[in-house]
Formats: sequence, structure tokens, C-alpha cells
Amino acid sequence: MKRSSVIAIILTLLMPLSAYSATKYISIGTGAITGVYYPAGGAICRLLNRGRKEHGIRCSVESTGGSVSNLNAIRNNAIDFGIVQSDWQYQAYNGAKFFSDQRPFEELRSVFSLYTETFTIAVKADSQIKNLDDILKKNVNFGPLGSGMYATMKVLMDVKGWTQDSFESVTYLQPSEQPKALCEGKIDVMVYAAGNPNGVLQEATQACKVKIISIDDKTISKLIKVNPFYVQAVIPGAMYANNNEDINTFGVMASLVTSNKVDEEIVYNIIKSTFDNFDNFKTLHPVFSTLEKGNMVKAGNSAPIHPGALRYFKEAKLIK
Ligand code: GLU
Repeated sequence: MKRSSVIAIILTLLMPLSAYSATKYISIGTGAITGVYYPAGGAICRLLNRGRKEHGIRCSVESTGGSVSNLNAIRNNAIDFGIVQSDWQYQAYNGAKFFSDQRPFEELRSVFSLYTETFTIAVKADSQIKNLDDILKKNVNFGPLGSGMYATMKVLMDVKGWTQDSFESVTYLQPSEQPKALCEGKIDVMVYAAGNPNGVLQEATQACKVKIISIDDKTISKLIKVNPFYVQAVIPGAMYANNNEDINTFGVMASLVTSNKVDEEIVYNIIKSTFDNFDNFKTLHPVFSTLEKGNMVKAGNSAPIHPGALRYFKEAKLIK
């Protein structure tokens, strides 16, 4: 065979391979499928994937335990991006609380903030539990170990001076398992932290009569004094069935984060596809409907902004 023919065959064989290797695959760590992180990650990927032909990036979401799992997975290079609560972003960056056995995660970078997540305690409507202190000596589900709500519950317990022994039992059911367990009386209290409205609280309040407990001002003030990244928050009345009054609680921001090892071009494109298609993005989940770009640059973020995000924010004149 002629030398030129051999070269032509080799080139043909290599072509699909080079096309394949040009695609950059990225993943976003989210939370339980019935939470808000999972559809939020899906919305971000969907808009990014639409421009795949131009930027060559292909995005997928992973269902995970939640904030703490996502931060650890980004640190171990198992995922590229994650959606996390602002309290755990702060603690990971500073190597505190649940991350105190690790060095500060200095490579952590913020991309953009999303919405407020409220800390929620829900019980059956006919239960004797009327306020936070009444959950003592009850069967309480904290959520899975890697979740942000489990970790935030621990912070609340520190403020109250409680330990796990303060409860009759502590379980670690997934958010999606909680509504059934609560309605069937297997647990007395479910703990959750997510944007509103979310599928978990919708399911719980529709499956049986469930009330969401307000947290008293004194506890919230004490909590915020020690942990300034928490803010007072309200779940508006009538957001969930049989909960017609406003519910007072505290909240955190949900943010998309990454590490400084992730390519500037990838981070730039993930923001560009969301922000350039913002009206569309806002329709992809009810939690997004009130988002404003200006608030999404820094709110709740303690890790430095990734250079790819900074480039987009400057170009879009969202920061100077
Ligand atoms: N905030 C929860 C967590 O960090 C997840 C909420 C959600 O999935 O929307 O574990």
C-alpha cells in the first residue's frame, strides 16, 4: 500500500477519537432528587449543553448527599462543581467545624449564588410539639451525614447546648424518605434545609397533615451572633398545604462552587450560558423566579470568586 494511503487510513481512524477528546465533560454535585439542588444543577447543565457545539463542554448532574459531600468531592477532584449551603462553604474554606480534621480548602472558589434556603423543622399537625424545645426526647431525623441540613442541625444543637443524647433517637434518612416516615409515625420530627417551594415539603404536607415549626427569635439571634453567615428568614404562609401562617426561621444561601483547578474557560461558559439566558433560567424552577443577577455575584460567598466567573462578571458589568 502506498505511504499516502496508509497515512489517510490512520487519519480517518484517528478522527472520531480527536473529536471525542475535544469534548470536556464536567459534573455538578447536587443533593437528593426531590430537593432543589438537583433540578437547579439540571437547569444549569441544560443551558450549558445547548451551546455544546461552540464551547465543547458537556455537563451532567450527580445526585449526592448534599453540601458537605459536594465540598469533599470537589476537594478530591471527584466532581468539578457543587451546589452548597453558604455556612458549609465558609467552614470548608476555613477548615472549621465538619472540616476541622482537614486543612482549610484554600482552592475552593465561588461561581455564583442562587437563592435562600430555609432551615425547616416539620412535625405532624396533631403532635404535641409546638416549638423548638419540644423536639427534645423525640425521634428526630437529621438527614444523611453528608448533607448540609444535618450539619446545620448540629450547629443549632451547639447553640441550644444539646447533644444527640438529648433525643430519644436520631436517624439519617434521605430527604425523600422523610415524608413517609413522618406520616407513618416512624419519626416525630423531620429536619430539612432547601429553597422554597421544594418537593420534599410539598410531599410531606400533602401526604398527611404536617406543620412547620417557627424557631423563636431568641434562638435565632443567638445563632446569628455566633455564626454571622446565617440570616433571619421567613417561609411565607400558604406556601405549603395546611401552613397558612408565615413561618419564622433562619436561612443560608445556596451557591455554585468549584475549585481553582477547574479551567477558566469552563467556569466562564457555565456562567455565560446561565446569565445570557436568564429569563429562560428563571422559568426552570419556581425558586428561581425572584432571582436577580446583581445579588448572585457575591451573596453568601466566602471563597474567592473563580477567575472565569470574574471575567464574565466584569464583561457583563456586574462588578468593576
Ligand atoms: N441544603 C441541602 C444540603 O445541603 C440540600 C437541599 C437541596 O437538595 O435542595 O444538604
